[in-house]
Order: sequence, then C-alpha cells, then structure tokens
Amino acid sequence: MALPLSSPGLRPLSESSPRPFVGRIRETPDTDVTERDREILLVREPAAYLPHGFRAYLLSRPVVDLPLPDGYVLPPEMHYLVEGDVVRVDPVRRTLTALYRRASHSNTFLVTERCDNYCLMCSQPPRKQDDSWLLDELEEVIPLVSPETREVGITGGEPGLLGGRFLQLVERLHHHLPRTAVHVLSNGRSFSEPAFARDLGRIRHPDLMMGIPLYSDLPEEHDHVVQAHGAFDETVRGILNLKRAGVRVELRFVIHAQTWARLPEFARFVARNLLFVDHVALMGLELMGFAKTNHQRLWVDPLDYQQQLASAVQTLELAGLQVSIYNHPLCVLPASLHPFSRKSISDWKNIYFPECGGCTQMESCGGFFASSTLKRSRGIAPFL
Ligand code: SF4
Repeated sequence: MALPLSSPGLRPLSESSPRPFVGRIRETPDTDVTERDREILLVREPAAYLPHGFRAYLLSRPVVDLPLPDGYVLPPEMHYLVEGDVVRVDPVRRTLTALYRRASHSNTFLVTERCDNYCLMCSQPPRKQDDSWLLDELEEVIPLVSPETREVGITGGEPGLLGGRFLQLVERLHHHLPRTAVHVLSNGRSFSEPAFARDLGRIRHPDLMMGIPLYSDLPEEHDHVVQAHGAFDETVRGILNLKRAGVRVELRFVIHAQTWARLPEFARFVARNLLFVDHVALMGLELMGFAKTNHQRLWVDPLDYQQQLASAVQTLELAGLQVSIYNHPLCVLPASLHPFSRKSISDWKNIYFPECGGCTQMESCGGFFASSTLKRSRGIAPFL
C-alpha cells in the first residue's frame, strides 16, 4: 500500500543521500550487518510536551551508539510505522511514502499507470508516460517484505502491458514470498495471446489469482464501460487462455448505473459459459478518479438494485460458483445476501459514518470507502 504524504514535519538533517531510497524499518539497533544498507532505524524519544508523547526519528542506516548523528524527524501522521514496514524516503523532495505495512492485510503494489482500457469509473486514471521505475522499485521492495505476509495485491494500470517483466515479477514473488498469496488486478486482454497466458501458468505460482473485470454479457456494453472497442472479446479470450494454462481467475463486476440492470443476464452468461472461474465478485462503486468525475452518470443507490443483485447471486450460487459481494454496507442488502457480503475495503480507506452509531453489526459490516462522503445510500440504518 503506497501512502503518498505531504511532509510538513519531515525535516532532513543530512543531505548526504540525495537519491530516493527504499528501506525496512527496524526499531532495535542490531550488530547483524547482512541487511544493514536496507534497514532504517526508527527511534522513539520520550517527549512529554508532544501530543503523542514521543518524537520519532528515522535514520538511513542502523546506528548502535546513540545519540544519533543524522536522520529524519517523522511527522506525527507517520508515527504508526513499526518494525518490518517498508518505506521510500526521498531526501530531495523531503517526502516519506509507506510502501508496505507488515500488520496490514491490504498491501497492494502499483506496477504501472499505463492501461489499454479507459473505464468510465476507473479509480486510477491511466497515464501514458514511461513509469518503469515503479517496477524497478518493487523489485527492491519484495526481498524486504515479511515472508509471513498472507497476501499482496498487484494493481495498475494494466500489469499485463509489462509483458515479460510481469512474468519476472510473479517469479520474484514466488521466490521471495513462497507462502504469500498474490492477487493481480488485470483487464485480461494481454492474455488473449495464448503464449503469454501459458508462460504465466508455467511459473506454477501456488497461490496466484487474476482478478479480471467483466461488466456485461453483451460485448458492446462491456466495451462501452471500458471505452475500448473489442475489449470484451479479448478479455473473454484472456480468461479462457488463463484457465487453460492452470491460472486461477476471479471475475469482477462493478455495479453502477450503466451495469446494474443486466446483473441477472450477466450471471446467466457466466453460469453457462464461464462456469470454471474460481470466484465471482459483485462490487460496489468506489467514487475515486473517473468515478468521482462521472458520478452523476454512474451513481445508483444499492437499495435500487437489491432485486437484480439477489437474482444474480442466486443464479451463480445454484451453478456452484463461489460468489461474494464487495464494498456494500450490510444494512443496504437484504438479509438473504448477508452471508455473501465480505469486508473488502482496504483498511486504510475504510470508514463508518455517525449514523452507524450503536450498530450491532459493525464488526461484520464492510462499511464505506472514505470517498463515500460524496454519495451514500438513503438506506443506511443501524441494526439495534
Ligand atoms: S449502520 Fe453502518 S455499520 Fe451498521 S450495517 Fe449499516 S453501514 Fe454497516
């Protein structure tokens, strides 16, 4: 998870290292030198006069003897950093970015902002410039990630556009994090090339899932949502090739004003033609990026598609498919759909509103995206 931060309190005490660098936080000085140049020492110094009761410093290398000769003062909003987290420090821009948090279940790495779709509701609008530095940096980060991490996400842009470098990334994850599940968000189009899908399958990653969006049973409707002619055909071919190569596939259907009406037909299409996919996620809209810009064309209250959603879930479940509902508060779903609802919103952007006060279901409710301040259902009401 990358959290770009402004840095009002990040004050370089030394300009000796002008290039951005990536390192893993360590809270205890150690004489072990094996990873020394990749570790950043975090020191918390008691300071009763400060709101958090301490002042935190980062040092760009472990130093055994205190007091510390040089380093960075951490702004209070970064005091959550703990041992094992991985950060990027840019000494020139005076910024700090958290790239990986050991305690989080939502670590996702952006590998490119380039994409061959241009979805109406894209939360990460595509850019065209060369951003291969993202992958260069991730290759440095992966060996610093705890091998105990349960899952990491790979997202874009479109990771498939990285071609051979995407395959190398999956190999690297497999090598350094053999017990970590990898979930890749991809539009699937690059895998319409059978050899590319086969090469991914040959890596034999034991816990890889490709999350691929399909927005309609009608090619022209899917192509309209992703603003790319012929995309439906390539995406479906990609799904078929991936499954043929032994790669697990999750279908993702984002529900909004342009897609909700055909939810039942979409479910029947999947049940008849794509019965071999491993999971189907029916997802609420995140009002970020283009979805925010286009919210008047896209927003629909979940109360208004309950019937279509229930019908789709029933069809998929009866067909024997694994089906989940993501990004929906429990109180806007009929009780029959509660068992399918998952807490799917990443912890760092997951919020609840004052009207949730006293709700007995808050523990099992997925709540809201932080961006839901723009629009939310008229049906929010606590279970009491
Ligand atoms: S009131 Fe809030 S916490 Fe309770 S189900 Fe609705 S959204 Fe979830």
